[in-house]
Amino acid sequence: MKGTRIRRAEHTYKPVTGCHKISEGCDHCYAETLTTRFGDSSPSFPHGFEPTFKPKKLTDPAKWARSTGPARIFVNSLSDLHIEDFTDEQRDAIYDSMLDTPVHDYLVLTKRPQWMARYFNGPSGFLARRGLDAAPANLWLGCSIELDKYTFRTKHLTSIPATVHFLSCEPLLGPLPSLNLDGIQWVIAGGESGPGYRPMDHDWARDLRDRCAAAEVAYYFKQSAAPRTEMGMELDGQLIEEYPLEHPADRIAHGNPPVIGRWVGRHSTSVPVSVARAGQGRLL
Ligand code: SF4
Repeated sequence: MKGTRIRRAEHTYKPVTGCHKISEGCDHCYAETLTTRFGDSSPSFPHGFEPTFKPKKLTDPAKWARSTGPARIFVNSLSDLHIEDFTDEQRDAIYDSMLDTPVHDYLVLTKRPQWMARYFNGPSGFLARRGLDAAPANLWLGCSIELDKYTFRTKHLTSIPATVHFLSCEPLLGPLPSLNLDGIQWVIAGGESGPGYRPMDHDWARDLRDRCAAAEVAYYFKQSAAPRTEMGMELDGQLIEEYPLEHPADRIAHGNPPVIGRWVGRHSTSVPVSVARAGQGRLL
């Protein structure tokens, strides 16, 4: 099991890859960048950004439960499980793998909560078919909202009976004055980073923070918008070299746990670290 740099989760579960863009938040899609980076030569993503179901991955949660114990798992970092390309049978297999491993907490995020609601709710929906009144407490259901015109998505998300509904307001591209926090337990906000990043006004994030505090909704500010992330090498606690990341996917190649690739051998005991830059960071 590999660690993940997604700070709100400990691991990622990727039984599907590939997607279609649906709104402004998709413009610099990290999944597209990563899955198309090496073209057809990539053994991990032979179909690039084409939606692909990977049934061999379905056993990952059970393996992790045995090997490393309970974890918080982010589901589908390289796709959206509720695109039309995937069948309900495939979704059933994926959600069943989560129901079968209640030791983990799962975060399932979509930009299509209306389709998530259609899948879960109703007399022939997943909950009814599994004899459940609500999604199990370890299944956290979320949707992305990057602009005020998409705040309607919360209505669909909260129509699904669940213990935790969360919002991912990133990349935050504008203020969200119409956002209704009824039925929401957690809000994540953050700016965009990497090449072509779009700026975020910190007042948008502060407004969300204050409204969450007033509504007793948990709030997590993930990062400011920033032109790029930089990495460096640290030796005995001292920063000895710095490297700009040319590509967002470098975060995977040189992320955490350290897979240091071309840096290996420069200094046998040095380690890769993130290097904060003015304008980056998580302090509001
Ligand atoms: S919904 Fe997510 S995975 Fe799909 S294109 Fe948009 S950003 Fe990428």
